[in-house]
Amino acid sequence: MINTRINQLIEYGFKHDLLTEDDKYYAVNRILKILNLNNFLWEEVKSENFSVIINDIIDYALKNKIIKRNSVTERDAFEAMIVDCLLPRPSELNKIFRKHYKKAPKYATEFFHDFSIATNYIKVDRIAKNINYKYKGKYGDLNLAINLSKPEKDPMDIKKQSQDNSKYPICPLCMENVGVYQTSSLAPRSNHRVVSISLNNEKDAWGFQYSPYAYFNEHIIVLRKDHSKMYVNEKTFLELIDFINKFPHYLIGSNAGLPIVGGSILSHHHFQGGRFDFPIENARVIKKYKKKRVQIEVLDWPMATIRFSGNNENRLLDMVNQVYQYWKTYSNKEINIFAKTNEEHNTVTPIVKLNGSDFNFYMVFRNNYSNKQYPYGIFHTNPERFHIKKENIGLIEVMGMAILPGRLLTEIELIKQAIKGEIEVDNNDLLIKHKHWIEKLKSDNISENLDEYIKKDIGRIFEDILEDANVFKYGDENDFLRFVEKAIY
Ligand SMILES: [Zn+2]
Repeated sequence: MINTRINQLIEYGFKHDLLTEDDKYYAVNRILKILNLNNFLWEEVKSENFSVIINDIIDYALKNKIIKRNSVTERDAFEAMIVDCLLPRPSELNKIFRKHYKKAPKYATEFFHDFSIATNYIKVDRIAKNINYKYKGKYGDLNLAINLSKPEKDPMDIKKQSQDNSKYPICPLCMENVGVYQTSSLAPRSNHRVVSISLNNEKDAWGFQYSPYAYFNEHIIVLRKDHSKMYVNEKTFLELIDFINKFPHYLIGSNAGLPIVGGSILSHHHFQGGRFDFPIENARVIKKYKKKRVQIEVLDWPMATIRFSGNNENRLLDMVNQVYQYWKTYSNKEINIFAKTNEEHNTVTPIVKLNGSDFNFYMVFRNNYSNKQYPYGIFHTNPERFHIKKENIGLIEVMGMAILPGRLLTEIELIKQAIKGEIEVDNNDLLIKHKHWIEKLKSDNISENLDEYIKKDIGRIFEDILEDANVFKYGDENDFLRFVEKAIY
């Protein structure tokens, strides 16, 4: 049985261009070593589904005590190690990527994307479990995703991780993750590959990879190879534009580099992007300006946003930098915008995409000031909406896509029962945080499908959350327009 599965895995590797004829003996022998086998027979085999092959191999390893625990993380880590036996070394993969890139950037990324799916680094089966839907709101459609793809961590793994002080790799974005075997990291890494790219004249200083738990089509991560802090400034804008010059079929953006308004990893400079149209791109335009041959549009979006467009990148960047500099020191005490207290608070979330021959550069204004009343930040989700989402409003949310915790699915079922009066809210740990919302839903006297109504109401709350993060929310539209007009002058 195990002999057949190994044959099938090699066959799978051939079929998906992971290895060539030259590699097959080497690949088999590496697999045999891991499985403590010292014999192998070549068989004529029929193709089999990857998950069937790999799960049987993992079960074999468990039965023979090669791995000890039957947890998702341990299985994933072992799977990655087996798959790695089929894969080219990073240098070889880079060569293949560059060869394809010479034909066309799209050709190279399609190859690498297919490769990352074939190695099961991108967990397509699990991503398919996510629930995706749209909410038709005041600002057009918003995208919502209930994230069921990331496995719940085994408590034993979390304990192990907390005891692990070695800090190698320092963070999940470090290059040291390429090929590392660890069962307690966020994702298995033995089969992890990053290709080298050059941005802003820094040769091969950057890495390009796909996200293992893609939230949207071809979800990419672009990272500096050195472990250095996130920064959002003129240099970042150049790097983003340069990325689009090199990969014109992608959208790319950066999280704001400050806590509260940034992403979850501030310690390692990186961007995220993909081949996807986000709701922000379809926002209506409130007002249009033309300055120094750059078009500037104020968007009808829950967060204060402008879009710069033009086909000359230098002129565009001059205008982007001018507005950014103006914002950096902009304070308006009447509407609670403080550029600086003991530290700087104003920053932006930048996003770039091509539209024909024009660059579209989105600048979303952010501020991370907090006070006694709002210790999480005054331009952060209002605590009354924490029951839906408490985390930072990062790049992906800013663009109009909510990534919601998987727990919501179970909770929605309970909320339905609570609305019907079948269960008590007060005695239920999962429901108590939703109490005020359940009261509201009850008073809505819902006549339509309850599931649909609740999902729609989550969309409405997400829209409110984005408005919470609007830096001009204590003023009105005219405050923002006055700011823009001064900034672009
Ligand atoms: Zn790092």
